[in-house]
Amino acid sequence: MRKQEELFTKDTLGKEDLISLLGLDAAGQKELFYHSGNIKEAHVGKKVYFRGLIEFSNICSKNCFYCGIRKGNSHTKRYNLSDEEILAASRFAHQEKYASLVLQSGELASPVFTQRVTRLLQKIHQETNNELRVTLSLGEQSRETYREWFDAGAHRYLLRIETSDPEFYRKLHPSDDLHCFDKRLEALHNLRDTGYQTGTGVMIGLPFQTIEQLADDLLFMRDFGIDMVGMGPYIEHEETPLYEVRHHLWPIMDRFNMALKMIACLRMLMPKINIAAATALQAIDPMGREKALKIGANVIMPNITPGIYRDNYDLYNNKPCTDENSDDCTHCLKARVGMTGNEIGFGEWGDSSFFRERTRK
Ligand code: SAM
Ligand code: SF4
Repeated sequence: MRKQEELFTKDTLGKEDLISLLGLDAAGQKELFYHSGNIKEAHVGKKVYFRGLIEFSNICSKNCFYCGIRKGNSHTKRYNLSDEEILAASRFAHQEKYASLVLQSGELASPVFTQRVTRLLQKIHQETNNELRVTLSLGEQSRETYREWFDAGAHRYLLRIETSDPEFYRKLHPSDDLHCFDKRLEALHNLRDTGYQTGTGVMIGLPFQTIEQLADDLLFMRDFGIDMVGMGPYIEHEETPLYEVRHHLWPIMDRFNMALKMIACLRMLMPKINIAAATALQAIDPMGREKALKIGANVIMPNITPGIYRDNYDLYNNKPCTDENSDDCTHCLKARVGMTGNEIGFGEWGDSSFFRERTRK
C-alpha cells in the first residue's frame, strides 16, 4: 500500500502523519478529501446546521496584529447595534428555522457590556420560546461573566486559540496582559468547566506559520477534547501591523487549500465534532464554504447582521456578502448547500454527538 493510503486507514494519526497529510500535493489532496468526506458522512451524516451570525458591534478593546477592527485602527467606522436590531435579527433566525444563533463582537469587559449581553440573552429566549440555541463569541471574560451568561441561556461559546504555539501567539499580539496566551487557554478551560459546548479554532496561512505548527494545532484540539471548531484562512488587512510582513505570506490559494486540508484532517481526528465552514473561505472562493461542507465541515454561519453594518465588521479584505441583506444570504445558501449533496437541518439544534457523549452521565 502506498504511504498515503496507509495514512487514510490508520487508527491514530500522530504529528508526522499530519505533517505528511497537510503537505499533500493536488492529487494527494483529492484522495484525502474523498476519504475525509466519507468519514464525515459516516459519523455526522448529510445534515448541515445553520447558525445565524449577528456581528453586533465592531468596538474592541484589543489590538490583535491581524484584525481589521482592532482598537488601534482609527479608519474603521465603529458601530453598535441597538437591542431592537439584535432582537429583530434573532426573530428572523427563529422564523427561518435556523434553530441556532451566534452573537459575536469585539472584546469588551465591563459591567455595562456584561449586563447588556445577559439582558439580551433573556429577551431572545423569551421572544423565541427558548427554541434557539445561542452561541457567544465575545472573547476572554472572567469565570463569573461566563457563568452569568450561561445561566442566562448561552450554552455554546467560540473562542479561537488562534495558534496553539505560545511563542507564535506572542508574535501576533502586543505583549501585555490583555493579549496573553496563558489567559486565553485558561478562558477556554473556564468555558468548558462552566458547562458550555466549547469551540475553538486557528487562523491558517499566517505569515511565518509552519506546517508543523498547524499539525500541532490539530493535536491541540484533539487533546483538549473540543466540541466544535471554526477555523479558516488568514486574510490580510491593510490597516493592521501584520500587513507589513505580507511578502512572507503564502499565495492566497495555498492558504485556501491548506484550510481545506486542515478541516479534512480534523474530521479524521475528531469524527463526531461540529466543524464550521468559515466565512473567510468564501472571501477567497465564492464556493469555498460549500467545498468545506463536502470534505468535512457540517456547520455554516449565514450572516444575518443588518446589511447597513456589514461593511464595518471588516476583519480582512474582501469580506463577502457585505452588500446583501440577510434574506438574500439565506436563499442563496439553501440552494448552495443542496448542490453539495447535503441537506439543511432546519429547526434542529445540531449539538455535536461528541458533546452529547462527553456530557452523558
Ligand atoms: N473578539 C472576539 C475574539 O477575538 O475572540 C470575537 C470576534 S473576532 C473578530 C473572531 C475571529 O476573527 C478571531 O478569533 C480571529 O481568528 C478572526 N480574524 C480576525 N482577523 C482576521 C483576519 N485578518 N483573517 C482571518 N480571520 C481573522
Ligand atoms: Fe478584537 Fe477579536 Fe479582532 Fe482581536 S480578533 S482585535 S479581540 S475583534
